[in-house]
Amino acid sequence: MSGANGRWQRDLQDGVRRAADLRRLPVAEADQAVAATFKVRVPASHLSLIDWQNPEDPIGRQALPSARELEFLDGELEDPIGDALHSPVPRVTHRYPDRALLYPTYVCSMYCRHCFRKESVNDEEAGYSLAALRPALDYFARAPALREIILTGGDPLTLADDQLRELRRHLEDIPHLRMIRIHTRVPVTLPTRVTPELVDALRGRLMTCVVTQFNHPREITAEAREACRLLRTAGFMLLNQTVLLAGVNDSVEIMKELCQELVYALGAKPYYLHHCDLTRGISHFRTSIDRGLEIMRALRGHLSGVCVPTYVLDLPGGDGKIPLGPNYVQTRDGNEWVFSTYDHGVRAYREILRRSPASEDEQG
Ligand code: SF4
Repeated sequence: MSGANGRWQRDLQDGVRRAADLRRLPVAEADQAVAATFKVRVPASHLSLIDWQNPEDPIGRQALPSARELEFLDGELEDPIGDALHSPVPRVTHRYPDRALLYPTYVCSMYCRHCFRKESVNDEEAGYSLAALRPALDYFARAPALREIILTGGDPLTLADDQLRELRRHLEDIPHLRMIRIHTRVPVTLPTRVTPELVDALRGRLMTCVVTQFNHPREITAEAREACRLLRTAGFMLLNQTVLLAGVNDSVEIMKELCQELVYALGAKPYYLHHCDLTRGISHFRTSIDRGLEIMRALRGHLSGVCVPTYVLDLPGGDGKIPLGPNYVQTRDGNEWVFSTYDHGVRAYREILRRSPASEDEQG
């Protein structure tokens, strides 16, 4: 990251930047030792959100290393959703017809303990360079079905403003592209990084959509509100993906509050609720799908539809996202359907369809 020495730079400098910085915090030695295997970084302002009296504090669980990260279960994967299997050129994953992922950096403002790209952000030291991204840009230019490029990583908002501007301009030169989507935790973990200059660097021909990852209502601080206000008033679309995390947000009450505050405090539409992937070393964050469905049942109908995300599972091997439901269809017999309602009632519904002129002709 570069730029004038300001608040967010100090926030990074004063936070945890390496294993040794953990020694000044009340973190057990066995947990500190994890930093030798997986990167650690937590900005100072984010450390200040942790309730240090609670060893399972939801902010602390996501930010501080835990010895449980070294427990690898059978079936867990280094590349849980097959990013590498769908990589036609370096720094690109192209899984779906009209959109592709671009990794402009593997650096993050915080290394989230539950990250599903834990291994790639850990292994890759590669930062931003236009030369490194050239094969990706050439590939996008040769793929006319593409409409959206999703900047992910790593966290793209750790790039300097001039790097973001340069990258946006190169993407804008590809005529069939319509949108840049930016997947970022910066508004959560380093919200003061979102400045008018950053917003200006992102504004251009392409529709800009910023997808945040707030996982707990306590992450919605005054600084996070200001960051989201800047992004929204710039005219950017603002969405949020939450990861369903045991001990963080696997509670109906927490999830309801989070989804409502996302909309009412931040103006960010809850987009996906992700079932926790099969990433190695994050089993202490993984809930059952049944628990996720129970939480979704408590949201749908009870909260405004604007506040309700879609619960999805990313299939291992890169086979894409599956919407998990819940399913409200109980039975179906031809045009006769039976549905369960949001408040656990049961209602029959008869589908009434106009016969098409073709079928009327056939029957004379
Ligand atoms: S910011 Fe995103 S990519 Fe980086 S560690 Fe957190 S979840 Fe992973």
